[in-house]
This record gives sequence, C-alpha cells and structure tokens, in this order.
Amino acid sequence: MPKKFQSPSGMHDIFGVQFDYFERVREVALRNAKIYGFKGIETPVIENTEVFTRGVGQMTDVVEKEMYTFKTKGGDDVSLRPEGTAPIMRAFIEHNLYTKPQPVKFFYFSPFFRYERPQAGRYRQFWQFGFETIGKNSAIVDVQIILVIYNIFKELGIKDVMVQINNMGEENCRNEFKKVLKKYLKKESSLLCSDCKRRMDKNPLRVFDCKKCIKVKEGAPQIIDYICKSCREEFKQVLEFLEEAEIPYDLNPFLIRGLDYYTGTVYEFFAPQKGNEDPLALGGGGRYDGLSVLLGDEERPATGAAVGVERTVNLMKENGIQINEEKPQVFIAQLGDLAKKKSLKIFEELKNAKIDVAESFGQDSLKSQINRADKLSAAITLIIGKEEAVEDRVILRDMDSGEQEKMKTCEVVKEVKRRIKGK
Ligand code: AMP
Repeated sequence: MPKKFQSPSGMHDIFGVQFDYFERVREVALRNAKIYGFKGIETPVIENTEVFTRGVGQMTDVVEKEMYTFKTKGGDDVSLRPEGTAPIMRAFIEHNLYTKPQPVKFFYFSPFFRYERPQAGRYRQFWQFGFETIGKNSAIVDVQIILVIYNIFKELGIKDVMVQINNMGEENCRNEFKKVLKKYLKKESSLLCSDCKRRMDKNPLRVFDCKKCIKVKEGAPQIIDYICKSCREEFKQVLEFLEEAEIPYDLNPFLIRGLDYYTGTVYEFFAPQKGNEDPLALGGGGRYDGLSVLLGDEERPATGAAVGVERTVNLMKENGIQINEEKPQVFIAQLGDLAKKKSLKIFEELKNAKIDVAESFGQDSLKSQINRADKLSAAITLIIGKEEAVEDRVILRDMDSGEQEKMKTCEVVKEVKRRIKGK
C-alpha cells in the first residue's frame, strides 16, 4: 500500500463546521473594517528575511526561533511571514503611500507561519485578522482599533473581553529605563533563564515576555515610571477614550508584546476560558512609530493590532456559540433522473430571480431531502417526483402550514416570489 499522508505537524485543514466558523469571523471582521474605513490588503506569504530581522527584531523569539527561513533557488534569503505588520509597512513604503491622504488604514485576514512547538491553541500555520493605521499620531486612532476589535468580539458573541494595556515609551525614554532594568537583571541574573541571560545586555525588555522568568519580572522596575511627559499625556488620553467608549481595561505594567517594533501604547485582548484560571490571549497590538525607520524610510506614526482566528473560533465553540446555516427561502427536492434535470433548470431560474435556494441533488431519497429542507428551515419546498417530471409540474409545499399545491413548472418562480413576499 502506498504511504498515506497527514497535514504537516502543527498545521491543520479547515473544512466543514470549522470553515463555517472561520467564514463567520471573516464576515464580521470584514464588515466592521468597512464600517470604520479600513481597506483590505494582502501581501505575499514570503518576504525578504530582513523585513523581519530588522522590523520584528533579531532577538525576539519569533525571529530567533520561529521563522521558516530558506534560500530560494535564485539565492534570495526569504521567510514565510510570521506576522502582518512589517510586510504591510514594507508595502506602504514601497508604494509611496505616504503621498496619499493620511492616515492610510488597512485590514487583513491572512495565514501566518511560526515554527512553534505544536500545542493547544498554537499552530505552525495560523490565521489572524488585523488592522493598521499608518500616517497619524493621535490617541484616537489607537482607540479606534481597540474599539473595532472589541465590537467584533461582541458581535461574535464572545463575552467579558478585557483589554490589558501599558505604555512602553519611545526610544528616548526607554533608554533610561533599560539602564535601570539591566542593573536589576544583573542583580537577579542567577534566576534568569538562558535566553534572558543572553539577551539581557542588548534587549533587556524581552524578560517581560518570558514565560520562565515570571518571578524576576514581578520584582522588576516598571517602564511606566520612566516614560516622558508626552508619552504619559498620550497614554492618559488613550485611557480616557477607552473609558468614554466603555471598554473595560486593566493596566499591566509588564506588558511589552513579543515584537521589538512597538513603542508607546501597547495592549492585548483577553477572554475567560472554561476550566482554566488564566484568561485566553486573543490578540494584541500597539503603536509602532519606529518601524518605518527600521525598514529604511523616515518616521511614520503608525498603530495596529492582530487577532488570532483559531483562538477566537475555539472560544466561540467552547462558549456554545452556534453558527446558523444560511436559511434558504426555497428548497428543491427531486426523485428520478428526469426530475433531477428539471430541478437543475428551476434552481437556476430561482437563483436568477434573486431567491435564496438550496438543494441536495446528491441525495436520492425524497424523505431525507424533505428532512434536510426542514433542518434548514426553508419556507417553501418544491417537490418534483417522477410523475411531476413527466407532467412538467411541481408540487409547492408551504413548510409552515404543510399545505401542498401542484402547479405548472413555468408558473413556479412567479408563485414563489408572491409567497415569500408575505413571509
Ligand atoms: P502576536 O502577533 O504574537 O501578538 O499574536 C496575536 C494573536 O495571534 C495571539 O493572541 C493569538 O491569538 C494568535 N497567535 C499567535 N501565535 C499563534 C500560533 N502559533 N497559533 C495560533 N494562534 C496564534
């Protein structure tokens, strides 16, 4: 027997009900993106590796350990994208989008790749939807992104979403803090994991993102005490806007996010999960004013956030949130070859008349087809049996009253239209 294959480790097929959940998340996210004026963008799945080593940061887990990096046959150094922001900033710069009216607002719903240890809620290919606003430095644009994501969770039925928020300061105010933090980390170095020890000098802030060094983190100095007046002012404004929008938040002085390009306000979304004291991280984001500089351009104020689709879907399922199948107005049931042929034609005619129509041509038993129509809650079922097919007639059944009426095939569309008008 030839070998059978499975999807690559940590990657999964999306089909059936899972696909329906994905579609629901995509539909709600896209609709909200449109309402708030975000335009779609899709960048290549592969980028020049430097977009990430420079943008995301050489010393982050994402770049150091998790990137799928390889050389092409032509010798180019490329990586599968582990995240969406750096590629979008690359595109913004490449296409001179700073010449367009600012800010430029993007939405995406795309797959990303990280070579992580496969475990519950962590995949090697996963999907995120996200928002980026580039070209405007104002607290309101940060809050608009938090608000749109918060609204999406609400519309999806996810309850008790909480925002954890912090301000990481800009490069200048961060330098002073880094000195103080390094001093503290040196003192506690015997408690640090090997990664944090190695990163301590060049990138001490990474300790806040380390799952192994929680004890050291708890006693560490807090960045919020070192940020400058303008960062403080901006942060205050963000919090005021959040209160105005009635979005619940918690200050988390150690939140720094896993990617180096963040500056200023940063946040993450959490929701309670069943059977686990810790809330589930659904997504996060923040301001990244320095990213354009790292990618060779001048400073462009920017802010954005991304949400994990698999985690959102898993949480929806865990909370018993159902995805209702689209309710068709009409269902066509048929019996026999001639009836099948006629059904195809009627299906097309109804569709062209903008009537929502469903079928189950693959099923031969009339009973199971009617059951399907019932399950879909179709208002009307058209039944074409062997006899009707020969007579060129159709039985129209009102699914609410159970009443049936036989009519000529050529009258069906008109009659269906008349009846669903009253439903
Ligand atoms: P990040 O870009 O790391 O801040 O991730 C934002 C969100 O994407 C997280 O809160 C998760 O919901 C989701 N996410 C990140 N990495 C993975 C992964 N390996 N598998 C599934 N979801 C992920």
